[in-house]
Amino acid sequence: MQSHTHTHTLILILILLVLQTLTTTTSQSLPSPDPTTPLIIDTFTHLTHNALGFWHGPLENLRTTHPPNTNSITLHPTDPDQIYHTQLSPATCFNLRPYRRTHYLHILFTGSTSFTISLTQNNPHCNASHAPFPETWDSVPATPYAHGPHIYIPLWHFAIDHARALSVAFNGWYSRDPVTLFRVELVSAGAVPIGFPVPQRAENGRVVLRCSRPGAFAFGIDDGQPGLAQQVVRILEEEGVLVTFFVVGRGLRDPETNFSGVYGEMVARGHQVALHSDTHRKLEGLGSIAEIDREIVENIKSFRDILGIETRYFRPPYGTIGARTRQRLANYIKDPQIINWSVDIEDWLWADTKTPEKQREAFIRGVMRGGNLAVMHFLSPTTVSYFREMIQFVKSRNATIMRIDQCLEDPDSPPLKISVP
Ligand SMILES: [Zn+2]
Repeated sequence: MQSHTHTHTLILILILLVLQTLTTTTSQSLPSPDPTTPLIIDTFTHLTHNALGFWHGPLENLRTTHPPNTNSITLHPTDPDQIYHTQLSPATCFNLRPYRRTHYLHILFTGSTSFTISLTQNNPHCNASHAPFPETWDSVPATPYAHGPHIYIPLWHFAIDHARALSVAFNGWYSRDPVTLFRVELVSAGAVPIGFPVPQRAENGRVVLRCSRPGAFAFGIDDGQPGLAQQVVRILEEEGVLVTFFVVGRGLRDPETNFSGVYGEMVARGHQVALHSDTHRKLEGLGSIAEIDREIVENIKSFRDILGIETRYFRPPYGTIGARTRQRLANYIKDPQIINWSVDIEDWLWADTKTPEKQREAFIRGVMRGGNLAVMHFLSPTTVSYFREMIQFVKSRNATIMRIDQCLEDPDSPPLKISVP
């Protein structure tokens, strides 16, 4: 199985770097909502900041161009993880609550509608140096909301804590056709043209990057080498902790790997085993809904047929997630939980280099920033060699290690075992 490029962490680091170099106005107070005046977020007049004076820009090597003689930006996506943010605050929190019921996000654009529009939510500290940053986001697909050059999305269609809004973001590309943005603003319902077709809000899954239970810490362990599994099992047994494994359907069905035996044993030992797609592609970038559906359905089927389990927990391969994948998950799974991370051991970057100890540094850095939900793999012996030390580091900080469903206080998760000395 291929190793990952965990791009979301890079996104966060890049945002931080950009913010550190920016000098913006520090005002966090907002104009009170005025039913007649739109709140203009971005007119793409300046290269580095929007109409509110805050940072906007592309991340993950999203190429942009500026059409001559217009205030606009053209995005040229090549990968679903590429993202363009326009921030509502200097990486703090913007209170959209007064606008939530009355206002629409209006986007004036031309070009492809094969993308996702997200509203991101900052962490409870409203602080870019705390992990996770952003804490979560909700997304809608552009296509059903677009009509001519306009997109109107009721703010309440974004299920986030509107008091902690951070940015409007464009990502989840599933076509390489360019998109040109002219204006991003909040307008009152009265400013939406009469008869403009606004769809119903579609169900989707929530995106989770952190444990909610106080003092909890969870390891989400993706793809591994069958040959390293017994070492992982031994460490978990000796340290007396439960974790969550995210497993692809194809690997389970492959008799060469013995993954059916490995993960059957993990289930029997009390670990959580959760979905990770069927063939480990970037689901959001797939051209058709049918392909996304197949990745979800075959993964669910393999779990049922081979492991005899059902789960509503899913980790997207590469952390890649967009509106279509979220909605398709909700089509097959009731209340899906889409699990990314706030601590990245960066094994995909360092495991097989001359400096494997950078995995340990990356892990500790993430924990010190407040992250409590980790991503790792057991693809490399170096990663497994640091695993016990990382568990002990978390314990030394008085955090309790548990499965992800337990750390999210899921009422259907098994009760926490109280160890009696
Ligand atoms: Zn993976």
